[in-house]
Amino acid sequence: MCNTFNSSSISADQVMFLGQSLVQVASLVIFLATTLPPIEKDPLGVFDRPLEDWYDFIVVGAGSAGGIVATRLSEGYDKVLLLEAGGSHIENDLTKIPLLWSALSNSNLDWKYKTIEQKHALFAFKDEVTNWPRGKCLGGTGRINAMGLIRGNPKDFDTWAKEGAVGWSYKDVLPYFKKMESIDFNLPMYSKGNKQTQYHTKGGKVRISYGCKKKPDLRGRDGPLTIVESRMTTLEYFHEQAAQELGYNRIDCNSETQLGFCRIQVNVKKGERCDTASCYLRPALGRPNLQVHLNSYVSKILFDGNVARGVEFSKDGVLYKVYARKEIILSAGVVHSPKILLSSGIGPKHHLNDIRIPVVADLPVGENLQDQMAMHFQIAINMSLATTSQKIADTENILQYLFYREGIYAQIGVDGMIFINLDQNNDAPPDIQLIFLGLAYEKGFLDGFSYKEEVKEELANRTDPNSFVVIVNLLNAKSRGKITLSTTCPSCKPVIDPMYLSDSDDVERFVKGIRFLQKLQETKSWKSIGAKLIRYDTPGHCSEEEYDKDDYWRCMVRHFANQANHQTSSCRMGSYGDVTAVVDPQLRVKGIKRLRVVDASVMRNNPSGNTNAPTMMIAEKAADLIKHSYY
Ligand SMILES: Cc1cc2nc3c(=O)[nH]c(=O)nc-3n(C[C@H](O)[C@H](O)[C@H](O)COP(=O)(O)OP(=O)(O)OC[C@H]3O[C@@H](n4cnc5c(N)ncnc54)[C@H](O)[C@@H]3O)c2cc1C
Repeated sequence: MCNTFNSSSISADQVMFLGQSLVQVASLVIFLATTLPPIEKDPLGVFDRPLEDWYDFIVVGAGSAGGIVATRLSEGYDKVLLLEAGGSHIENDLTKIPLLWSALSNSNLDWKYKTIEQKHALFAFKDEVTNWPRGKCLGGTGRINAMGLIRGNPKDFDTWAKEGAVGWSYKDVLPYFKKMESIDFNLPMYSKGNKQTQYHTKGGKVRISYGCKKKPDLRGRDGPLTIVESRMTTLEYFHEQAAQELGYNRIDCNSETQLGFCRIQVNVKKGERCDTASCYLRPALGRPNLQVHLNSYVSKILFDGNVARGVEFSKDGVLYKVYARKEIILSAGVVHSPKILLSSGIGPKHHLNDIRIPVVADLPVGENLQDQMAMHFQIAINMSLATTSQKIADTENILQYLFYREGIYAQIGVDGMIFINLDQNNDAPPDIQLIFLGLAYEKGFLDGFSYKEEVKEELANRTDPNSFVVIVNLLNAKSRGKITLSTTCPSCKPVIDPMYLSDSDDVERFVKGIRFLQKLQETKSWKSIGAKLIRYDTPGHCSEEEYDKDDYWRCMVRHFANQANHQTSSCRMGSYGDVTAVVDPQLRVKGIKRLRVVDASVMRNNPSGNTNAPTMMIAEKAADLIKHSYY
């Protein structure tokens, strides 16, 4: 167990969600941790091996996907170079502590992107823009994320395949989901393979029953990522009961059906984050054929005609060129993979012409950008069950984590979730996910939102330690955005326009999701703790609408719904002839030789759940595809 932590990446004004208390806690953790000896260390000089001109493979970006691709490709004899723009946080840092994940956004481990002003959404946010955190360090966004592991719905992948991404159906991707994980919890009865069916009672309620047909085991037992279940407080019991009253039984959300209530599963090992940096790359760092260079910013790809030969990158103010004998793999994420492609002349011809970049290939790079959207609701209760800032600062809780890696610090703050399909169609993926947080709606929680000052001040008056938070998450949103460049300057940030809620169907489905949340208030279970939804319209932000009419909620959605951190599809995969596709089903950039994109940007469509598990699955499968194309 490593006991050293360094908080250099976190300061008071950067702390999200849990607020000021996290800073105090961080100081205490550091003080105590430095009194205990460190045990784990990386081999000396492991990130400073002399750079060579040629490698077999060059992987750009050591995030959720790149960490896996580089680890897998270096299992044989190929020489692999992994270039990462950020630094190392494998040792000595707070990113290991599950509860502190929300403090990492807007820290110096974050690229700190912002969207441009939104025309259809974010009206309660400063300048109608929102933050887009993305990890800039070994492990990438997987090092700053919430560690929730949700694969998505089997139907999502079948749709990818039906739309031309041949080889990406559920049957095809399941072995890779299993390959990456090692579950470390008891799968309850329902996930032994019994198929769920939903039916409707006369009262309009949905009931779920289980068939008895034995199905193959859907979970992995010996992959690098340890997966455990996480629960924050006893509130989870009340949510599970409430869900059951509405016909949603407890299930494993990573099995064949997602429609039901489930406990959150997280990639955490012995109380610490288990991401691609710590659980894939770290054990591979000693390999002589794997070189990892940090603080190495790749600006463009070097071509010989339509053949990708190498990359140009800067490190410590020096510009380098390195070349690949076999392939270059771009794993720079949903923002930077399109940015590097565009800067290298691969993108929509008209856009490249506008910014005077010579066109290498005319492809829809940066288009088809997708995200989910999330709205946070405060639920008042008549007792103190949620975790408050006071409980977070409690020395006993801190010591419990420091000495045993247990307790609230080993959790991510979630008390279960429900996935629903609004049309009550059991054969379709869910379109709403309700996430129950075991955290009280307090001032520190509000600090995580870039609301307008007057909105924040007003909402601060309504905070209450006797409350908890529910996130209503819109899945499969129809709105599409894009990533473009405003200049050719390599270090300038790209223009991010997600065009949130530009498709009004997203607003309508959101409203239906909120109506479902209201139904929970009517259950005996929620009533037993006095659970009651608190209004959060403020003057000028929907307070003029008649409360609880559909128009009121439409207004609330357009003002208060925020991004959901689950961006995908800016370099979408599809069949070779598909004009919306940037990469083919082998993830090769269309019309270009020796260049693939492997990360969240290639997802055909946004999955019904989180994005890290599908990204890692893509990386596992891509590594196999690459290996098979050479041996
Ligand atoms: C706050 C937050 C919470 C989240 N919570 C969850 C969750 O609970 N569950 C879940 O499934 N998903 C979650 N996600 C999303 C998930 O983590 C991402 O979808 C996933 O990590 C994306 O992986 P990736 O490999 O595509 O990109 P990344 O992991 O972002 O990797 C890209 C890497 O490339 C590097 N890079 C970028 N540009 C360059 C360059 N020019 N040169 C060299 N290197 C470069 C970056 O520094 C980074 O390390 C969350 C995201 C955020 C921001």
